[in-house]
Amino acid sequence: MAIDPICKMDIDEKTARFTSDYSGKTYYFCCLACKQAFDAEPEAYVDEGI
Ligand SMILES: [Zn+2]
Repeated sequence: MAIDPICKMDIDEKTARFTSDYSGKTYYFCCLACKQAFDAEPEAYVDEGI
């Protein structure tokens, strides 16, 4: 399982509909709103030790 860096929900990589690639990693999101929040400011979310 991956963790949605925005809302911390568990996301199954196999069924995730919303993903973003950033800094060589793939991030998974529960919904489009979380993806858009990440895409707008990814550096605000990737340094939290996820
Ligand atoms: Zn989310």
